[in-house]
Amino acid sequence: MSLTTPTDRPSLRAAIDEQLLKSVGVPARDATQTDLMKAVAEIAREQLSQRWVETQQADTDDKARRVYYLSMEFLIGRTLSNALAALDLTGGAAAGVNEYGQKFEEVADHEPDAALGNGGLGRLAACFLDSMATLGLPSFGYGIRYEYGMFAQDIIRGSQVEYPDPWLADGTPWEFPRADISAPVRFGGWVEHFGERAIWRHAGEVVAKAYDMVIPGHGTRRVSTLRLWKAVAPAHLDLQAFNTGDYGRAAQVKNEYENISWVLYPNDSTPAGRELRLRQEYFFVAASVQDILQRHLAEHGSLDNLHEKVAMHLNDTHPAIAVAELMRVLCDDHGMPWVKAWEITRQTFSYTNHTLMPEALETWPVSLMQHVLPRHLEIIFRINAEFLELAATVRPGDNGFLSRLSLIDEAGERRVRMAHLSIVGSHKVNGVSALHSNLLVQTIFADFAVLWPDRFTNMTNGVTPRRWLAQANPGLAGLLDRSIGSGWRLQLSELKKLEALREDAAFRAEFMAIKRANKARLAALVERETGVKLNPDSLFDVQVKRIHEYKRQLLNVLHVIARYQAIIAAPEADWVPRVTLFAGKAASSYVAAKSIIRLIHDVGQVINNDPRVGDRLKLVFVPNYGVSVAEVIMPGADLSEQISTAGTEASGTGNMKLALNGALTIGTDDGANIEIRENVGDDNIFIFGLRTPEVAALKRGGYQPMRLCESNLALKSVLDAITGGQFSPDDPGRYRPLVDALLWGGDHYMLLADYQSYIDTQYRVDALYQQPEAWARKAITNVANMGSFSADRTIAQYAREIWGIPVRA
Ligand SMILES: *Cc1c(COP(=O)(O)O)cnc(C)c1O
Repeated sequence: MSLTTPTDRPSLRAAIDEQLLKSVGVPARDATQTDLMKAVAEIAREQLSQRWVETQQADTDDKARRVYYLSMEFLIGRTLSNALAALDLTGGAAAGVNEYGQKFEEVADHEPDAALGNGGLGRLAACFLDSMATLGLPSFGYGIRYEYGMFAQDIIRGSQVEYPDPWLADGTPWEFPRADISAPVRFGGWVEHFGERAIWRHAGEVVAKAYDMVIPGHGTRRVSTLRLWKAVAPAHLDLQAFNTGDYGRAAQVKNEYENISWVLYPNDSTPAGRELRLRQEYFFVAASVQDILQRHLAEHGSLDNLHEKVAMHLNDTHPAIAVAELMRVLCDDHGMPWVKAWEITRQTFSYTNHTLMPEALETWPVSLMQHVLPRHLEIIFRINAEFLELAATVRPGDNGFLSRLSLIDEAGERRVRMAHLSIVGSHKVNGVSALHSNLLVQTIFADFAVLWPDRFTNMTNGVTPRRWLAQANPGLAGLLDRSIGSGWRLQLSELKKLEALREDAAFRAEFMAIKRANKARLAALVERETGVKLNPDSLFDVQVKRIHEYKRQLLNVLHVIARYQAIIAAPEADWVPRVTLFAGKAASSYVAAKSIIRLIHDVGQVINNDPRVGDRLKLVFVPNYGVSVAEVIMPGADLSEQISTAGTEASGTGNMKLALNGALTIGTDDGANIEIRENVGDDNIFIFGLRTPEVAALKRGGYQPMRLCESNLALKSVLDAITGGQFSPDDPGRYRPLVDALLWGGDHYMLLADYQSYIDTQYRVDALYQQPEAWARKAITNVANMGSFSADRTIAQYAREIWGIPVRA
C-alpha cells in the first residue's frame, strides 16, 4: 500500500459536530480551537481503538513472537497530526476545521506535547514505535506514565528556570486506561531461604496500573501499543484513611507510594531522588515482566518456550534490572531450575548501549540495592559468581581482567554495574552508529568482546520520515509527492530519485523557495518567543539538542563572538548575513550547562543590539526545546551544527532530521555524522577537527590548551572578551569558571584543539552560501541520500538480526 496526501477527502464537519456534543460537551457555535482539537482527536481515537483491537486479535490468533521495548523514556510529542495522517484523515479534518473558520495548524497547536523523555534516547524510542507499527511488528513499548514529564524550560533574565509540565492536567484523549490490567510491585524487606528455594519477604507494595497509547502504523491498519504504568497506593490505604479520618496523614502515606510515577528525572541529575529513580526503574520493569509473562502463559501455557516467543529489549541500562527480575520470577515464583532459567533469560534479552563516556554508565550502590531489592541483589551476586568463574577459564590468573568484567565495582563504595548486567544477561548488544559500535568493543566493553565477540553488533539509528518530513515539512513533502511520488514515506530510499532533479533549475528554485518559507515560519516562532526579528534571507545556522559540554555549544558561541569581533573590525566586508540559533534544556543540576545557556543570552543581548552589526549576525535561543519546537526548527535550518568531540556522540539523530530537511551539516567525525558523510559524499558536508584516534593521541601526549590560546590572537581576543566582562558588565566574573575550565582545567572536550579548524570551516560555509545554485545542489543531494536513515531500516535490522522476527522492507 502506498500513501498519498489526502487533501480531497470529504469534510469531517459532521463528525466534529457530533464529537463536540458527545465528548467535549460544547455547542458547535461556541467551540474554541482547543475544543476543536479535542473533537478531532476523539474521531481519531475511535478508529485507533478499532485498529488496536484488530491487531491484538490477529497477534493472539497467530501466537505471534513479539518484541517488548523497555524504555524509561518515550518522547512522543504531539499525537493528533500523526494519527490523522496514519488514518488517512488529514484532508478531511483540515476541511472540517476550516468550516469553523479555523486553520488546522492552529487547532493542532493546542495539543500539549507528551514530553516523557529527555532527548535523543527517548525520541529514538518514539521513532522506533512508529516504525514497529508501520512494519507491522507484533510489538509493545513499556514505560512510565509520568504525571509530569520533562520540565518545561523558561528563560528569566537569560537564565534557565524549570517548571513542572503538567501535561495530563486537562486529561488526554490519547490514553486508554486499562482498569482490568494492574500488577503489584514489591520493594524492600528481606529474603528467607529453604534449601534451593528463596522467599522474598517484601516490606512494601505499590500497584502498577496500565494506560495504553495506540501507535498507528502508516500504510497499514496494524498498530503498536505503548503501555505506560502509573503507581497507585494499595487499596487498603484508602480504606484506612476513610476509617480513621486522618486525611492529612493518609494523603502523605499515599504520596509516598504514588510519587514513583510523578516525575521524569533528567538522567544526569543529582543524588537527590536517586533512590526514587531506582524504584522507578524496578517499578516499570516488574510490572512489564508480569504483563508479558501473563500474556505468554495465556497463549502458550508454559514458560519453557518464553525465549521463542518473547524478545525483550533494554533501551540503555535503565531497565537492566529486568534481567534479575525475570530470573527471580522464573526460579522463585515458577520453580524453574536456575540453569534453565538463565538460558531462557539470556535468549530473551538484548541491550542497546547509548554512551561511551564511562562517567555516564549507570551504577547503583550495593547498599542501596540491598535496601530496595534484596532478592535481586542476591541474584546478581550469583550471576556474577558464575560469570566470573567462566571468565577465569579464558584468562586464568588474570585478576585485572576479572575485576574489570565483574558486575560489581569494588573500588570505593561497592556498586552494581548495570551495563555489565545487561551484557551478561543478553544474547545481543548493540551500539547506535558504526563508529560507536566499533569503539564499544575497543574501549569500554573490550574485555567482554574477548569473551563473546559475536554478541556485539551495530544498529545505526534512524528517524521516522512520517513525523520528521511528511508532518514537519509539508512544503517539501508536497514537492516530493509531485516530483518523485509519495512512496518515500514508506520507502525512504525513494529519495534517491531527487539526484536526477538536482540539475533542473526550476526544481532547485522550488526547493529553495520552500526552504525560504520554512525559514519565515521559524523566524515567526523566534520573534514570538524572543522578540528578536530575523531576516529569512540570512543563513540559518542551528544547534538544537540538550545542552551538554560534550556537545560543545560553547565552541559554537566562541565562533559567534569571533565573527562579531571580525564584523566590528571590518563592517564593510562582504559578510554573509547569519543567524545562529540554539535550543535545548540543561539538566537542572548541571551548573556548567546552565552557565552556557546564560552566556548565549548575554552574548545575544550585546550582538543583537549593536547597531554596527545589523542583519550581519543575530544570536537567538528558542526556549523549551521539545518535539513540537523541533518540528518547526528542522525544516527552517540551512546549517546543522553537529560538533561534539570526536568519539563522544554515540550517534545523534538530530543530525539526521536536519539533513533530511535539506540542511548541510558542519560536524566532527563523530557518531552518525560519519555515515551521513559516507552517504552524501565528502563534497556535500563540512567535516572539521580532530578524529577520534587523534583526540585520544593528543590526550595521551599531554594536551596544553593554554598554548593554543597564546598562539592564536583571535581566539585569545574572544576568550578575553568573555572574561573581561564584555557580555556581563554587571558581573564581569560570571563566565570565569567556563573559560578557566578551558585554559586551566584541561579543556576536557578539546574545544580549543578544534577551534581554528572550526572557524576556517565556517568561512567555507559562507563562501558556499554566496553561491545559491551550488548550495541548492548540495542541499538536494543531502535529502536524496538520507534513505538509509529511516527508522524503518533500523527496525527491520533489529527485527531480523536481534529479535528474530521476520519483516518486510
Ligand atoms: C532528535 C531530538 C533530540 C536528539 O538530538 P541530538 O542532536 O541527536 O542530540 C533531542 N530532543 C528532541 C526534542 C529531538 O527531537
